[in-house]
Amino acid sequence: PSALVWFRRDLRSFDHAALSRALQAHERVYCVFVYDSTILDVLPRSDRRVDFIHASVAELAAELERLGGHLIALHGDPAVAIPQLAAQLNATDVYCNHDYEPQAIARDATVAATLAGAGRSLHSGKDQVIFERDEVLSQARTPFSVYTPYKNAWLKRLREEPGALAPYPVDGLAARLAPGSSRLPTLEHLGFTPSNLAALAIPTGMSGAARLFEDFLPRLANYGAARDFPAIKGPSYLSLHLRFGTLSIRHLVRTVWELMARGAGGEGAAVWLAELIWREFYAMILVHHPHVTTRSFKPAYDAIVWETGPQADAAFDAWCAGRTGYPLVDAAMAQLNQTGYMHNRLRMVTACFLIKDLGIDWRRGEAWFALHLNDFDLASNNGGWQWASSSGCDAQPYFRIFNPVTQSEKFDPAGRFIRRYLPQLDALDEKEIHAPWLLPPLLLAQKGITLGRDYPAPLVRHDAARERTLARYAVVKTPA
Ligand code: FAD
Repeated sequence: PSALVWFRRDLRSFDHAALSRALQAHERVYCVFVYDSTILDVLPRSDRRVDFIHASVAELAAELERLGGHLIALHGDPAVAIPQLAAQLNATDVYCNHDYEPQAIARDATVAATLAGAGRSLHSGKDQVIFERDEVLSQARTPFSVYTPYKNAWLKRLREEPGALAPYPVDGLAARLAPGSSRLPTLEHLGFTPSNLAALAIPTGMSGAARLFEDFLPRLANYGAARDFPAIKGPSYLSLHLRFGTLSIRHLVRTVWELMARGAGGEGAAVWLAELIWREFYAMILVHHPHVTTRSFKPAYDAIVWETGPQADAAFDAWCAGRTGYPLVDAAMAQLNQTGYMHNRLRMVTACFLIKDLGIDWRRGEAWFALHLNDFDLASNNGGWQWASSSGCDAQPYFRIFNPVTQSEKFDPAGRFIRRYLPQLDALDEKEIHAPWLLPPLLLAQKGITLGRDYPAPLVRHDAARERTLARYAVVKTPA
């Protein structure tokens, strides 16, 4: 009997749990990817993520063909398309990798039920994380809601169970892949026009992920020191690839783990591994607390009253467009809008600014990021926003409010990042560029800048906004 492997956020042909399991258990294995119309139909008609998926699916198809198989690419609702295809191919078993988002869990349950109705089975297993759901628990056998003890327990479990990093083999069994030639829909067929992804030279597919990781490894040792400065090439830029599974998380962790064991990763290796563990922490939180997608992790924070009305809407629009008058915030939003990436430090700064300087509901910012981030991931994005709004698990305390000017002076001291996205401020020196409104208008004019014409005046005064935020958050103070 044949089997069908359903690719979703795991667009690779190596170290792939579902593919490996199917090949081990079945003589003939088909592969399918469904362009999910229920997700795609609501997106703008040009979207960098769709381009990324399209290019990565093409590479996956080519790799499967090289191994002797092929990829069937469909466009529609997978809840209908997968059971139909399984019937057509007479596949008794469908294999996929766990997706931990609530909508995906519901979709998979529907597919499993439809398949079961026709005497077929859906097998879903762990692939995108090292440890999932209940695999890392506290001593009381409950899920963690604080990161550091979770991380320590995660590391302990890996020391005890290094087999968790073993790859899922594919190559040796590739002769079982059903031969054929892939037919892939064009972007136009999917109803999309190309974005600027290619112009940005963002690497796609398995080969792109491998290149980025190779490029990052020599920088790993210095990651801890470099990662907070957006003007520097500090981080790995792998988030988009982690999102779509063009690389294997086991391969990443194994590489770093082995370097650490040999004392070769420098201080950066442990810091970077800790970031990969944050990703698993937030995935685990989403599984155990799906209410976070619409409400605060900490219920008391749902009592906060946010700014609404035309003035708040105008402030939100200014934030989205990078017109707040705070250069670091505006440069960061320009980076997001133009490239779909935003440096982690700037995600924290812009999120805090929206919530604690503008008093706007974090969910509005979360939605803007969800639409524009190439690496948008429900668990990490929600975790990041609830961290910034102080409503999340292990979040920033509500009274710790980033000062956007101090952050700018500290993390972009020469204004190099700001200048990249706000060239109109280039004439300002490194002392002036963080807060142009503090300069006398005459001096600004000599530098060719008039506030309100060449660059916005600040939307709010930070110190006053800070006071308003402390008052707004007073409702969450636990009574003495
Ligand atoms: P690196 O610094 O090289 O880190 C390596 C990997 O570790 C990342 O690719 C990512 O998978 C993981 N990681 C790093 N930091 C975090 C973190 N704080 N939480 C969870 N995982 C982390 N990350 C996303 O992948 N998708 C999102 O939608 C997302 N939204 C965010 C929203 C806010 C408000 C904040 C504060 C953070 C968000 N992050 C998100 C986390 C983080 O900013 C990005 O993962 C990181 O900037 C991606 O760049 P990189 O791959 O170069 O990261």
